[in-house]
Amino acid sequence: MKYIAVTGGVVSGLGKGVTISSMGRMLQASGVKVTAIKIDPYLNVDAGTMSPFEHGEVFVLADGGESDLDLGNYERFLGITLTSDHNITTGKVYRKVILAERKGDYLGKTVQVVPHITDCIQDWIERVAQIPVDPSGQVAEVCLIEVGGTVGDIESSVFLEALRQFQFRVGFESFCLCFVSLVPVLSDEQKTKPTQHGVRDLRSLGLSPQVIFCRSTEPLLDATKQKISLFCHVPASNVLSVHDVSNVYFVPSLLKSQNLHMILQEELQFGRSLIPGLTS
Ligand code: ADP
Repeated sequence: MKYIAVTGGVVSGLGKGVTISSMGRMLQASGVKVTAIKIDPYLNVDAGTMSPFEHGEVFVLADGGESDLDLGNYERFLGITLTSDHNITTGKVYRKVILAERKGDYLGKTVQVVPHITDCIQDWIERVAQIPVDPSGQVAEVCLIEVGGTVGDIESSVFLEALRQFQFRVGFESFCLCFVSLVPVLSDEQKTKPTQHGVRDLRSLGLSPQVIFCRSTEPLLDATKQKISLFCHVPASNVLSVHDVSNVYFVPSLLKSQNLHMILQEELQFGRSLIPGLTS
């Protein structure tokens, strides 16, 4: 199993869900089976008790699980059926660890965020990644993981620490970290500083992105890519433009046109070539 984790910086609602779904769609077009996990760093056990005015509508999964709308994006883009376990929240993780503590599973031990909560998150990801999600009943080859919120939030830090440890658990050749950032335009200039700061925050947590997706109104200029590459420690070819498009279903081919399949092939050391059969 290979894992692609996506985090985001600067602001929420950047398009992490659309980007990760599109990445999955592009991988499927290359013959790779994918599954997806959404991490929501809030203490609610699920989205069912949250106001739709505050959180947006709830997406109801086939097993009755009430989750974030992103899971609906994954299901529609990827043609898969997810379960409530594919939506990991802080509430679910803490509930599991505290119930185990009450049962006496950790008797004699001090139960702590590290390692008990972080281990629980990693075990959860590994277990859920093995659940078949398409009609073939086969286990996926790649698990996409979206970490909600933005890097630097207190709420998401425990999940980022779990992912930092997870790279060592599964091996660096099986883990690719992506960062979605905002490139605003001021006085006709594409500004890279928010991306630089976001990546710096991520690196201070021990995580280094291998691919950076830049959300902007217009396509990213070559000079902007070069600058992000220089300051964020990634090759310019791994800085991708995810500019505004008229329909989000165009994003998979936008990523393909920037050779994301070749980047993932190299970063995740796929033993075969990934050439998507996408035409538009
Ligand atoms: P996040 O997961 O970061 O909260 P979403 O994936 O839900 O963000 O996207 C937020 C909004 O941005 C959605 O309405 C989505 O349709 C829109 N969006 C995302 N990417 C693009 C794009 N490349 N072009 C136009 N709209 C986009």
